[in-house]
Amino acid sequence: MHVLILGGTTEARALAESLHARGERVTTSLAGRVAAPRLPRGEVRIGGFGGAEGLAAWLRQQRVEVLIDATHPFAGTISFNAARAAGQAHVPLLALRRPGWVPGEGDDWHPVDSLTQAADALPGLGERVFLTTGRMGLASFAHLDTLWFLMRSVDAPEPPFPARMEVLLDRGPFTLESERELLDRHGIDVLVTKDSGAAATAPKLTAARAAGIPVVLVRRPPAPDGVPVATTVEEAVSRVCSGGLG
Ligand code: NAP
Repeated sequence: MHVLILGGTTEARALAESLHARGERVTTSLAGRVAAPRLPRGEVRIGGFGGAEGLAAWLRQQRVEVLIDATHPFAGTISFNAARAAGQAHVPLLALRRPGWVPGEGDDWHPVDSLTQAADALPGLGERVFLTTGRMGLASFAHLDTLWFLMRSVDAPEPPFPARMEVLLDRGPFTLESERELLDRHGIDVLVTKDSGAAATAPKLTAARAAGIPVVLVRRPPAPDGVPVATTVEEAVSRVCSGGLG
């Protein structure tokens, strides 16, 4: 069986590993945003398809039998393209989407719907911001010149970005201990994050709770309706291998 995984996440890599180990032919597609990505097992292709039509053509040409959208919950465009392309090429589609984070006792979360709203929420919440929303979209924060930012991302950002900003190049998983130390060392008093739901980056939320730091949490964008969803890699593997996707 030829499975195409739309990847770029830890779960996508684990899924490729698992299906490959079961003897399936797996191709993972990456957008090409990260300079030196962690490569999954199996075949890898890099770069856009040229919209839903391009993806549908690729599915037909490569005789893909199952398409799995294991992209990041904030990669909204490719998920809608996947739904359209799967319909056009008559290939069954499964989304692998981890659940969002759930606040616990002592959390001071401020949910917003966009990076622009996150920037609007910041003044008044804190002055030293730990920004973990990725290197894209920093323009939304560029006008906040009275605040100081610690921006963590895998690759260096490009302007426009805030004038008072230190860049920390790093990628998860992160530990609770290292996140606590980071908040402390930089005197962070507010955290901004997207609701990715990832276990690898969740310790920052626990560290913020322990330090009494408010969190501006960007809610997920809409996902296409009518696509079956698995919330764990194991569930996705079992649905693909049982042939229960149609
Ligand atoms: P996006 O806005 O949904 O997609 C924009 C365009 O990038 C798509 O139309 C598609 O181009 C191309 N693309 C996206 N994912 C692709 C993939 N896996 N393989 C081939 N082409 C892909 O996506 P994004 O937010 O820029 O994210 C890009 C990638 O980074 C995703 O694969 C995602 O899993 C990963 N990622 C994103 C975030 C985030 O916060 N957004 C965080 C971590 C990882 P064409 O229309 O030309 O096909």
